Amino acid sequence: MRYDVIVVGAGPAGATAAKFLAENNITTLLIDKQKYPRDKPCGGILTLRTLKRFPYITDDLIDAYSYGGSIASSSLQHHLQIQKEKPIAAYIHRKDFDQGLVNLAVHSGATFKDGTTAVAIQRTKDSIQLRSHDGETLESHLVIGADGIWSTVAKHAGLREQNPRIGRCLFQEYPLESTLLDHYFTEKRLFQFYLKFKGIKGTGWVFPKKNSVNIGIGEIQPSTSQQTNRLHLKEVYLDYLSILKEKKLIPPTIKIGTIQGGVLPLHPLEKTYTDRVILCGDAAGLMNPLTGDGIHYAMSSGMFAAEVCTKAVEAKETSADFLSKYQRLWIDDFGEEITLCTSILKRLLKHDDEKYIKLVSKDPHLMDLLLYMANNQVQIHTYKWKIIRRFMSLYVKNLLGM
Ligand SMILES: Cc1cc2nc3c(=O)[nH]c(=O)nc-3n(C[C@H](O)[C@H](O)[C@H](O)COP(=O)(O)OP(=O)(O)OC[C@H]3O[C@@H](n4cnc5c(N)ncnc54)[C@H](O)[C@@H]3O)c2cc1C
Repeated sequence: MRYDVIVVGAGPAGATAAKFLAENNITTLLIDKQKYPRDKPCGGILTLRTLKRFPYITDDLIDAYSYGGSIASSSLQHHLQIQKEKPIAAYIHRKDFDQGLVNLAVHSGATFKDGTTAVAIQRTKDSIQLRSHDGETLESHLVIGADGIWSTVAKHAGLREQNPRIGRCLFQEYPLESTLLDHYFTEKRLFQFYLKFKGIKGTGWVFPKKNSVNIGIGEIQPSTSQQTNRLHLKEVYLDYLSILKEKKLIPPTIKIGTIQGGVLPLHPLEKTYTDRVILCGDAAGLMNPLTGDGIHYAMSSGMFAAEVCTKAVEAKETSADFLSKYQRLWIDDFGEEITLCTSILKRLLKHDDEKYIKLVSKDPHLMDLLLYMANNQVQIHTYKWKIIRRFMSLYVKNLLGM
């Protein structure tokens, strides 16, 4: 066997898994269908807890830091403002960030093959075989599927859902002079979020970086036909830009260029492992639908997958039963957080967000708790997390009059 583990997909999930596997002396092949460096549809905001958990993400992978921002209600009447002395989030460019993570994996000893598409996997008694687009067969003990929302590995392993619920986004990254960025978003690079803009079931964002601004809008896909939905979202996006310009929230010089699209998973798959296979990141549906934070879960799940695969290779145990430890690890770490945020999102979309923003904006303590949650690795079993959760659910219930 040439490789112990083949990791399919070199985004944050796959590159992280490959780095940790290689550090554990596990023979690892990382493949990606695209030629690197490659871009990935993304807003490019990163929570600070990701930097704390993965301290090897150094400043050369970060474009800029944000020291605060605002969240606006759908009428744009109520605003929740946050501004701190220290950064509360980081901005990245995915082309550089993902390449940087791959470099780290290679530096740790993983072999990287870009331009290689996995088209099928087949499990035998003694190995797992992966067929690539050029007919080559690669063999290993285990495969990690980190190949994004439309994961080929998940499909061939029988883990992918038939019609997964997905979120759809439109966005553009506009290059801007830093003086203009300073004028509109200050040197603190204050972000903006817009809830349910024009009644869409989702959020708009404005992320000002060092020399560019990323402006996007995303919604949970309604059950109408995909084509109708896409046209509708494009109209909303164009209106969104005009209104932000009218209100002098973004520079009027920003022009409509090529609008990019992207999709996100909205809930984790029921099962994220099977015999000889583990799924990470978007392939496993690991995403916070409330905040749009996917990179933290992608990297964390990659780290857990590497831990379990290392033990599996050492113990020569590749059964689903042995690999089930992986799902327990991510559920213990962030599973409940995803469940909680999903239920807050559902309520927010169903009920009056005006009331929510107005109330929360009056409670700096709650804002600090939210910030604490966003920036720390809050463990569910800790006392602190229980308090935060209880407080939040009581608050939300009170707020929605339930
Ligand atoms: C518009 C948009 C904005 C977003 N903004 C943010 C944000 O601001 N902050 C945040 O944290 N998250 C954001 N996300 C979510 C985030 O981008 C994802 O959660 C994250 O990229 C998941 O990482 P991943 O490694 O699982 O998958 P990906 O980053 O999607 O990487 C998967 C890789 O697999 C490769 N691949 C796919 N199929 C195959 C195959 N068959 N063979 C070989 N390789 C294959 C792909 O080329 C790709 O490189 C956003 C998503 C979208 C769509």
